Amino acid sequence: MNFSKIIGQNNIKNHLIQTVKQGRISHAQLFLGNEGYGSLPLALAYAKYIMCLNKTDTDSCGECSSCRKIAKYQHPDLHFVFPVITPKNKDKAVSDTYITEWRQFLLSTPYGTYNNWLNGLDAGNSQAIIRVDEGKEILRKLNMKSFESDYKIMILWFPEKMNAETANKLLKLIEEPPEKTLFFLVAQNSQYIISTILSRTQLVKITRITEDDLFIGLQEKHQLTEDKARQISRLSEGDYAIAEEYIESSIDMQQNFEQFVQMMRLSYSGKMIDLIKWVDEISKIGREKQKAFLTYSLRMIRENLIINQKQKAMVRMSDNEEGFAEKFARFIHPVNAPHLNSEIDKAILHITRNANAKVVFLDLCIRLNRILKMQ
Ligand SMILES: [Zn+2]
Repeated sequence: MNFSKIIGQNNIKNHLIQTVKQGRISHAQLFLGNEGYGSLPLALAYAKYIMCLNKTDTDSCGECSSCRKIAKYQHPDLHFVFPVITPKNKDKAVSDTYITEWRQFLLSTPYGTYNNWLNGLDAGNSQAIIRVDEGKEILRKLNMKSFESDYKIMILWFPEKMNAETANKLLKLIEEPPEKTLFFLVAQNSQYIISTILSRTQLVKITRITEDDLFIGLQEKHQLTEDKARQISRLSEGDYAIAEEYIESSIDMQQNFEQFVQMMRLSYSGKMIDLIKWVDEISKIGREKQKAFLTYSLRMIRENLIINQKQKAMVRMSDNEEGFAEKFARFIHPVNAPHLNSEIDKAILHITRNANAKVVFLDLCIRLNRILKMQ
C-alpha cells in the first residue's frame, strides 16, 4: 500500500511523512478512527515508507527490495497481530495460523473491515479475538534482531479484541521496547483499550474522508458514473466502508426508496384497498429485506425531519430522495417524528420475532395514517 493509493487524508499523510523526514518516529502510535476512514491502509503505507530504501519526498519507491516484499506483505521485519478464531481441529490459534488468509485479505480488500475479515474466515457466530498465546508470539518475534531493515514494525489490528492479560504483556513491551521497534496499533474504539496502553501511545487521529476526496476515490476505484459517485459520497459520511456497502446494495436502495414513497403515500391517504395490496406485496419479500426496508425508513424520517428544521447542510440524501423530500418533509416534525420512530422500531422488533408480516405492516400503516396527520 503506497500513500498514493489512499483516498484523501492528505494532512495525515503529510504528518506521517514529516515524522520520517525529521527522524521523530514515535515508537508506539495509535491509529484511531473508523475502519472506512482508512486507518489500516495508512498504517500500512507508513510502515512501507519507513522501510523503503529509496523513498521520495511523498511516497515509497515501490521498486526496492523492501517495497517488493511489503507489496506481498512478506517482509521479515514487518509483523502483524490481528484477531482470529480457533479452528475446529485445533485448541488454540494465533495470528500466524491465519497469515495466508491475512495477506490475501490485505491484498484484495485494503479497506476491509473486521466483519469482512470474519466473513472470510467463515467464522459463523464465533468472535475473533487476540488471545494470550499471542503475547508470547509478540515477545518472541520482537526479541529477534531485525533481518533486513533498520526497524522492526509490528502492526496490531484491533487492540480492542485483546483481553487484559494480553494487553498487559503488550504494555510491558511498549514501556520497554526492544531496540528499533515500532508498534502501530490500529483501532476504532478507544473505549475498549486499557487506559495504560492509551496513555503510552501517541495518538494519530484518523478523521473522516472529505466528501470531495471520497467522490474522487469512488470514481477511481469503482468506475462509477459521476452522478452515482456524488450520490454515494454524500451518503457515506466520509467512510469508504459504508460507501462500498452502498455500492453493493444500490439496487436495494432504489427499491427501498420506492417502497418508502408508497408506504407514506398510501398510509397518508388511508385508502384501504390499495393499502392492503401494498401490504400483500411487502409481506412477500422476506424478513431480512423487510428489516432493511424499515431501517431505511427510519433514516428517511430522520433526514426529512432535518429538512423540515431547515438544516439542509446536514442532510445526506440522494437526488431521488431529496426530490421526494421537497414535498414530504413538511409532514415530519418534532411532534410526530418520535411517534413515527417508535412505531417503526416496534415493527422491526415484531418482524425479528417472526410475527406475521401482513399484520405488522397493516397495523403500522394504520398508525402512520394517524401520526402523519398530527399537528
Ligand atoms: Zn522502496
